Amino acid sequence: MSRRPCSRVNCAEEAVATLTYVYADSMAVLGPLSMKAEPHSYDLCEKHAERLSAPQGWIVLRHSAVEPGT
Ligand SMILES: [Zn+2]
Repeated sequence: MSRRPCSRVNCAEEAVATLTYVYADSMAVLGPLSMKAEPHSYDLCEKHAERLSAPQGWIVLRHSAVEPGT
């Protein structure tokens, strides 16, 4: 398995989670790193996953698999 870098600009950390925007439900879903790239999804390192903030009016859904310390 190859390393996947964080998708944030100027960040070279290894991605640990995948953020997917579900436009139909105004939801940002943060889950375990997905195996394949999907539309509207972004790989994030631990730091950026923790700092994630959704656009106003959006719901952020975090899966327990990416809680800090696991
Ligand atoms: Zn990052």
